[in-house]
Amino acid sequence: MTSATRLLLATLGALLALAFTACTEVATLPVGAERFDPPPEYALWWRMTESCSGLRGSLADVNWFVVPGVTSFPGDLGGFWYEQDNRIVLTGTEQFDGALVRHEMLHALVRAVNHPRIEFLERCAGTVTCAYDCVKDSEPAPIPPAGTPLVSPSALEIAVEIKPSTPKGGADGGYFTLVVTAHNPESHAVVVVLPPSGDDGPSGSFSYTVGQGSSYIRYDDRAYDSEATLFAAGETKRDVFDLHVGSDAEFGGLLPGTYTAAGSYGSFGSPPISFTIEP
Ligand SMILES: [Zn+2]
Repeated sequence: MTSATRLLLATLGALLALAFTACTEVATLPVGAERFDPPPEYALWWRMTESCSGLRGSLADVNWFVVPGVTSFPGDLGGFWYEQDNRIVLTGTEQFDGALVRHEMLHALVRAVNHPRIEFLERCAGTVTCAYDCVKDSEPAPIPPAGTPLVSPSALEIAVEIKPSTPKGGADGGYFTLVVTAHNPESHAVVVVLPPSGDDGPSGSFSYTVGQGSSYIRYDDRAYDSEATLFAAGETKRDVFDLHVGSDAEFGGLLPGTYTAAGSYGSFGSPPISFTIEP
């Protein structure tokens, strides 16, 4: 991979981190919408959304549509859920964006077009995307208790895990996840002070790198919501990143082989791990 490619990937990561979604009801399908059957990775993403929310529902009951060639709907939405026939409509560019698809799945499980904090920013924080408009639409973030210490990211314990530990091309459409966790080992709450982002956006929060030698994929998430920096006593927060077996590195594709992965929170990193992708 060239350094230009790496720069492109880093830029794409920043752009993807800026992508956001919110969901309002619309009465009609957008022009060009096409019905599709959920691919195998959607079953994985549905299970993940059920798991984080504690809710249960049937993926088969959701009606899926995509608008090929469209990058965003009015209001910069990447997708929306429509209550009337449990319909999810996605832009062509977001059809395989796991965090956004899970956001819409969470609407289908909660059966609501709004964004309850407990679901979108607490139970499923890091598993579903919830950025600018989603945070704005949710309830206000909790205020840290008076006297809560401000700490640097290095006060946390950071770890990275690949799920499943040895991904294979055939399972779940070849999709798997890289999970970065940040644990507060203290017996009291802390607020983590994140370094400024250096642009107009919120500070970087979780990020990962995965690669071989000098070629790597990197993605930086951001702390769109202030609760992302408030850790209760003993709390572990996580961020889930989607990868898959494939040659499209710009979309998280990795070919079979052995890789090194590391995660970080506020630029404070985990020990690296090694994993193998089987064909
Ligand atoms: Zn939404």
